[in-house]
Amino acid sequence: MKLDILAVGAHPDDVELSCSGTIAKEVDRGKKVGILDLTRGELGTRGSAEIRDKEAKAAAEILGVVMRHNLEFSDGFFENNTAHKLEIIKILRKYKPEIVLCNAIEDRHIDHGKGAKLVSEACFLSGLRKIETIMNGNKQEAWRPKHVFHYIQWKNLKPDFVVDISGYLDKKVESVLAYRSQFFDEKSNEPETPISSSNFLDSITYRAQDMGRLINKEHAEGFNVDRNVAVDSIFDLI
Ligand SMILES: [Zn+2]
Repeated sequence: MKLDILAVGAHPDDVELSCSGTIAKEVDRGKKVGILDLTRGELGTRGSAEIRDKEAKAAAEILGVVMRHNLEFSDGFFENNTAHKLEIIKILRKYKPEIVLCNAIEDRHIDHGKGAKLVSEACFLSGLRKIETIMNGNKQEAWRPKHVFHYIQWKNLKPDFVVDISGYLDKKVESVLAYRSQFFDEKSNEPETPISSSNFLDSITYRAQDMGRLINKEHAEGFNVDRNVAVDSIFDLI
């Protein structure tokens, strides 16, 4: 199966929090989108890895993505090393995404910036044919995605471009709320965390509203790039 977009997150829920409006919109337009989680989020204060697995599956169904895979790297401790790059290269060569969305270049959680660099470097290396990878006994073909875009998550980074997600905010919030164990729940007896407050839940909406306001649309999501963004014509910009 070939993907149009592969969205990668260090933890299950990173993708939903940051770029699920963009994903829902492209799925609606007929694009094939997949999600790759690097870890199971087993160090999360609330819930457990098993609960997160179920929540991630439910969120994937809400967004209508065609695949979701977890590489089960070590939450908090995974490294940007050869073994992990090769694991990601295998996925890239298997699904051949045109665009890869990955974590913010820098963020509050150390796994985000680390994951961003790891995925970005794997995308480059995946295009080098002399790096051999085998899947199901077959040698894989080299594949380099056309673009790697970093979604903005916790920190208010200045985006290099924004995507209009008007009409898709409800879907975004619904996919985030699939992670019931993590976010605001009046009835929960679990410890408070930076993301379990009602303020944080509200911030998903107001940040999308604010990003939208800046481009004269209802809601938007912001991204950063490693390379300059190019357009064929300046009329391509909305
Ligand atoms: Zn995260």
